[in-house]
Amino acid sequence: MAWKHTYEDMLKKAYKLLPKVTAKDSRFEIPKVHGRLQGNKTIITNFNQISNHLRREESHFLKFMLRELATTGEVGSGTATFMGKHSPASLNLKVEKYVKEFVLCKQCGKPDTELIVEKGTTFKRCEACGSRTSVRSIK
Ligand SMILES: [Zn+2]
Repeated sequence: MAWKHTYEDMLKKAYKLLPKVTAKDSRFEIPKVHGRLQGNKTIITNFNQISNHLRREESHFLKFMLRELATTGEVGSGTATFMGKHSPASLNLKVEKYVKEFVLCKQCGKPDTELIVEKGTTFKRCEACGSRTSVRSIK
């Protein structure tokens, strides 16, 4: 039936116009923080593991976390130590924020991106769809 055919085509077109995104659809899982308190410090014990999973430099990830948590800290052997007590919930929120801002592609939602710096501007370049968006630089 011609009508049905057209209708299906319309649906297909409508689907194409929808953004395919969201972290859930791309089957990319945002890693959860494993942490513990030590006195007045918070230690993320899988810090290195998370940055490897996100394919981001530990130092970049650390700078982001320090800025977000408004505290000081440092990376150790695979871990990161932050001054102050930070709940796992708030740490996980920051990781999610980092992933959305610096890892997932704005266009296609895939995590196959890399950060490149050009003329002082940082871009998130997507290997899956080729799109490039500027992101804030964290110093
Ligand atoms: Zn993309």
